[in-house]
This record gives sequence, structure tokens and C-alpha cells, in this order.
Amino acid sequence: MTRHTFYLCTVQRYRSFTGYFIHKYGTRLQKVVVDAGFTCPNRDGTAGTGGCTYCDNRAFHPSYSTPEKSLIQQIDEGIEFHKVRYRRAGGYLAYFQPYSNTYAPLEELRRIYRPVLEDPRIKGIVIGTRPDCIDMEKLRYFKDLSQEMIVMIEYGVESCYNRTLERINRGHTWEQSVEAIEATAALGIHTGVHMIFGLPGESRDEMLAEAGMLSRLPITSLKMHQLQIVRDTAMEKEFAEKPGDFVTFSLNQYLDFVVDFLERLRPDMFIERIVGEVPPRFVRSTPWGLIRNVEILRLLEKRLEERDTFQGAEYVNPKENAIPCNH
Ligand code: SF4
Repeated sequence: MTRHTFYLCTVQRYRSFTGYFIHKYGTRLQKVVVDAGFTCPNRDGTAGTGGCTYCDNRAFHPSYSTPEKSLIQQIDEGIEFHKVRYRRAGGYLAYFQPYSNTYAPLEELRRIYRPVLEDPRIKGIVIGTRPDCIDMEKLRYFKDLSQEMIVMIEYGVESCYNRTLERINRGHTWEQSVEAIEATAALGIHTGVHMIFGLPGESRDEMLAEAGMLSRLPITSLKMHQLQIVRDTAMEKEFAEKPGDFVTFSLNQYLDFVVDFLERLRPDMFIERIVGEVPPRFVRSTPWGLIRNVEILRLLEKRLEERDTFQGAEYVNPKENAIPCNH
């Protein structure tokens, strides 16, 4: 592999998402999570039942967002919740995070989103969904919306391996992820991807190889999470029965893994997250203690510096390596 000799910039060794909105839109924007009451096809029997083996949605969204409240009430409370910490926010993004937020016919989506889109405090929407819950009709709607406000779609991909997706009962394939990502990016819509590292049956080398597989796709930003075993899930049971099937990372091992992963990743992909933060009461254990995300980011930067490396250092651009055609 060729070791590239450029840095992303003189001070930053990976393409952090922090500052993205200031650079792109000239202001700080804060995400406010809203729960619009969607479900997901992996729970209602359309793609599967029982859901993904690691999932307990209560663990993944804040207390102010519950579907019993109207979306505007959730936004009011979310803004209040973030006000002290994010005093300099120039506006808010409504983050439709829990479950699959495109899992309804288009007309229903329009009706659900409308009050949020009409709220002057809201500068854009972030839509979390599954790759099998999108189609061209919905994408064209989001494309039209993106002419007026910020629109970001975030796909739960989780793994590039179909055998893993089957084992965790995801109910969709890697090929469906590829198709959704390519169709979204082709319309110029911000395309985010969410991945989990440490899923059962995957070796460290296989997880690292995913950097190359993702780099070939037109992904704008990436969220990476270490697997956290949530209480009372099927995954908790599986972990207790077959712990040898799981690669578990100490914090130090995870930092080195993320550095290795970043080295193999396309240098222009934004890194939105490197760890998940499930509240301690929901997880089986907290092997890293109660360390905050911001501290882990600081440790990552330190580790990149110690290893004198950077995002994309080992990235191989398939186009650069293509053999020229003489026809
Ligand atoms: S993780 Fe998402 S797709 Fe899987 S069961 Fe939970 S809500 Fe559904």
C-alpha cells in the first residue's frame, strides 16, 4: 500500500464533523431529537419480528422526546434542554432519530414532517432510517425539500457483511445499503451512515476491511459505534452464551482500531462520531467507565499524533489504481 504524504490540514488528523455547519452554513446548528412515532419493518413483521438483536430504542434517545408529545412540544423541550450547553447555536436541526423515519407512505411522511418544516427555529432535518425504507419517490421529496432547508439522511448500515446482518436479524442486506446510499448521494442529498464494531462473528480484520468497502461509496459522513450490550436484548443472551464470538475492545484497543480504520478510509469522509453513548442504566456493563465522548475524541487525536498518522494514510483509491483502457 502507498502511504499518502498529505495531511488533511495542519492541525487535524481526521475529518471531524465538528465545525461542519459553521464552515458550510456560517452558523452553529444543534440537533434536537424528535420521536414522530414511527415503528420499523423489522418489528412489525414486514422484514422481520423482534427487531435487531441489540436494539432497545429507549436506550438510544433522550427523555424529552417521546411520541406522546407533539413534535413542536418535543422541539420546545429539546431547545430548553440544550440551551445552557449550546448557547451559541444559530438554529436547530430536527433529528428524527428513533426507529425508521421514512417507514410510511409519502403522503403520511409529508403530514408528519409538516409542523416541523414550518417552525422558523428549524433550519433543517436529519432523518434516521433503514436502507430498505427508502425509494425514489421519497428521495425526490427530500431532494425538493433540500432546496429550502438542510436535509441529511442517515442510514443504519451497521455491517457490510450479509452473514452478520442475518445473525443480528437486521432484515436487510448490504446490497440494499449500497443501493440506498448511491441513490441518495446521486440526488445531492447529504448521505450519512451508521456502523457498529464488535458485532458477533466479525474479526478485527473483517471490521477493518469495511473501511475500504465504505470508501467506495459516496458517503458524506460516518458515525461509528463500539457494540454496547444493552440489557434484556437478544444480544445480551447471545453474548452470555457465546462470548468467544465477539471481539470486545478495551478503550485503548478501540482507539488503535479506530486509528487503523481511519487510515484505510477515504480522506474526505466526515467523521461524525467514533463511539456510542448508551446511558449506563441500559447497558450490561461499562467496561470503559463513565468516560465522555469528548474525552475519547481527545484521546483519539493524541493517539493519531503518537502514531504520526491520519485519515486516509493507507487509503487506496481504486480509480487511481485502475489500469488505463486503450480503446
Ligand atoms: S435498530 Fe432500528 S431497525 Fe433495528 S429493530 Fe431497532 S428500530 Fe428497528
